[in-house]
Amino acid sequence: MKYTPYLANAAALLIVSAGIVHADDKHSATAPAAHAAAPVVTPEAAVAKLTEGNARYVSKSVSNGKPTAKARAATAQSQHPFAIVVGCADSRTSPELVFDQNIGDLFVIRTAGNLVDDYALGSIEYAVAHLGAKLIVVLGHERCGAVKAAVASGSAPGHVGSIVSGIRPAVKAVQGTAGDLLENAVNENIYRVADKISRKAALGDEKSSVRIVRAVFDLDSGKVQWLK
Ligand SMILES: [Zn+2]
Repeated sequence: MKYTPYLANAAALLIVSAGIVHADDKHSATAPAAHAAAPVVTPEAAVAKLTEGNARYVSKSVSNGKPTAKARAATAQSQHPFAIVVGCADSRTSPELVFDQNIGDLFVIRTAGNLVDDYALGSIEYAVAHLGAKLIVVLGHERCGAVKAAVASGSAPGHVGSIVSGIRPAVKAVQGTAGDLLENAVNENIYRVADKISRKAALGDEKSSVRIVRAVFDLDSGKVQWLK
């Protein structure tokens, strides 16, 4: 995967953590009691956990991320997800599976084409303000049907038309550029969604400690590639 006009703005897009707080990489494995203060998982630690989880997903034939009675009990009264994932509704791209995480680990928002509307932005704001998540991942994927629809046409029946309209600017931005149009449009859409979250999510005092990252999922290999 290469390219995108937004690449030049990548640095500006990142909201990099300034204040690092007691990171606990074992956070999800040792979920605290219901009313205990949750340790903060920094954006850097969160990316590392997701990267390790995806490597497990890619390399193992059996996932480690299945819910268990223990995990259920640990999270039944409270949740402290260490990352927010904005992903596509595509049935092959479930973040809990591709990052090999358990219940309570990820706060997930999914729409076709990984678009964000006001409901999604509100969900992100809630997870940052009330659940302590410091990392926002925008996860697109290879051969995304929603992006493919927006490449094929500027309109679609019913509410699918809203999705096509939402993705269409990304398609137009990459038309005529080198490489595969669908792949470029998928990447461009990921950048634009991340940019929208950066501009529109009201993160308040948390903004300086939250980081937004972009990633694309390879349906063939199962690998998540972090985009620069
Ligand atoms: Zn998709």
